Amino acid sequence: MQLYNTLSAKERAALIKEAGQERLTISFYKYAHIGNPSIFRNHLFIHWNELEVLGRIYVAHEGINAQLSVPAENFEAFKKHLDSISFLEHVRLNIAIEQDNLSFLKLKVKVRTKIVADGLNDTTFDVTDKGIHVDAETFNELIEDPETILVDMRNHYESEIGHFKNAVTPDVDTFRDSLDIIEQDLKDHKEDKKLVMYCTGGIRCEKASAYYKHKGFKQVYQLEGGIIEYARQVEQKKLENKFRGKNFVFDHRRGERISEDIIAQCHQCGKPCDTHENCANEACHLLFIQCEDCAKKMDNCCSTECQEVHNLPWEEQKRLRKGKVVSNKIFKKGRSVVLKYKK
Ligand SMILES: [Zn+2]
Ligand SMILES: [Zn+2]
Repeated sequence: MQLYNTLSAKERAALIKEAGQERLTISFYKYAHIGNPSIFRNHLFIHWNELEVLGRIYVAHEGINAQLSVPAENFEAFKKHLDSISFLEHVRLNIAIEQDNLSFLKLKVKVRTKIVADGLNDTTFDVTDKGIHVDAETFNELIEDPETILVDMRNHYESEIGHFKNAVTPDVDTFRDSLDIIEQDLKDHKEDKKLVMYCTGGIRCEKASAYYKHKGFKQVYQLEGGIIEYARQVEQKKLENKFRGKNFVFDHRRGERISEDIIAQCHQCGKPCDTHENCANEACHLLFIQCEDCAKKMDNCCSTECQEVHNLPWEEQKRLRKGKVVSNKIFKKGRSVVLKYKK
């Protein structure tokens, strides 16, 4: 029985090109109680490998988080298989609007301790005891209610380029930090206010809503499917769009424009801009907002120091990097003393 990939990424890319078949890029998640994630993992691998599914899937005791692609002609069979798993029956699938046949080149189903890196050790609360899910239309009404506190559950570099008007946007680097800050700020309103949350695709809010219910909040709501699904419903049902700017996404596009407003500014010159770039110095790689003029002037670097390193011969750069850890990839996104306009 084959439980692992037998083809390399390169061989797979060649095969996909040769077959010339359309693939759909899909994402979904579901919190559930999975008794034996390893057995579940193998079950998924065997069936999905047969259907030529490719992607990155995390399975844990608390549920499943999947980003994958499937040949369009196998989509029905794939859906049928999902529906055969009791807790995945009718699960909401996010199907990417922009298709990329080579979005994934291997099927990786991994067992993890968590499907969201939340830093929580709390095993006393039930992640499936989630808040009330609302669609875009109800969400629009809810956030106009004076009894509502609207909270953005994402990190600072995400809400910086786009968020709902009147949302509280915690200035945090991690999900764990925002959980604490919000609880502290709202501790006197656990019973009287409506706590309404949103994030990119819903997975963080679902965990947060269960956490806050456990912490004693009485009225907890979350935007079903996050900003991604909100944008889709606004478009489809011709609703008023209350999101300003771009939705930060974690693939090469970095952001999806939801409204024409540019709410952020270039971190180097301060002019309106909401384009994230990584510092071109491989030893830095800082994620920050940079306008085209500054990119040109700075050779796509975040500082003159990085620019100097970036312009050295490659061998010299490698020698300088030796033994140093690039930590900016994880934290300090968009934060650096060299960036004049990053508040
Ligand atoms: Zn600039
Ligand atoms: Zn840099």
